[in-house]
Amino acid sequence: MWILSFPRKYNTHFNLIFQNFSYCILLSRSFTFYQYPAAITPSPEQTFRVCPYRTWILEMFYNMNMALYEIRKYPDKILKQKTVELSDIDTQTQNIIDNMIETMYGARGIGLAANQIGISQRLCVIDLSLRESNKIPLIVLINPVVVQKEGMIDAEEGCLSIPGYMTSIKRAEKVLVKGLNREGKPVEIEGDGLLARALQHEIDHLDGLLFIDRMSPIRREFFKRRYKKSLKGQENDT
Ligand SMILES: [Zn+2]
Repeated sequence: MWILSFPRKYNTHFNLIFQNFSYCILLSRSFTFYQYPAAITPSPEQTFRVCPYRTWILEMFYNMNMALYEIRKYPDKILKQKTVELSDIDTQTQNIIDNMIETMYGARGIGLAANQIGISQRLCVIDLSLRESNKIPLIVLINPVVVQKEGMIDAEEGCLSIPGYMTSIKRAEKVLVKGLNREGKPVEIEGDGLLARALQHEIDHLDGLLFIDRMSPIRREFFKRRYKKSLKGQENDT
């Protein structure tokens, strides 16, 4: 499997063009298999296939209309605030959703909540295709709520807002989530395994909680000290 990594911030169209130019160079050199992001190929089965030139040209123009947001990092205050429920799902909401999906793929994440990109609205996107064989199509959830939980399980998780840090967090093994899809229709999602974890992680974000808030106070204090040190180290490096 090919995993392409790109810089996390694409603020200009130049960078988006450069990103697609990189695809083209890489593909022409090695004629390898390339996995399309789900936003580009909406078909639920994201199979590996050879990228035809015609498609990446289309992809380039598609991306020209996209804006990738900067992902807010801990300790940004917006991450601690509870988000506001959406009452209207309008064109602006659809644009935010599209851009969130692109931002998630750009950062190679499997989930993203709106407040992680500075928009305090109860809205999140999830796509597990980078971590699991993709049987679950891309999920867009508006005003999601966990209505049922079952079991408890410890597993490693990380967050795009706390890059480079992973730790074991106890969460419900199985959940039932209710919310609206991007068309505003009510949906119910039942998930276990990674899906249950991702749903809980993103809904926590929307409630102003980070995964470190699920750690014991002693572990969280230890994390904070280590994180501050790593931030200082980064400042000294620059
Ligand atoms: Zn997160």
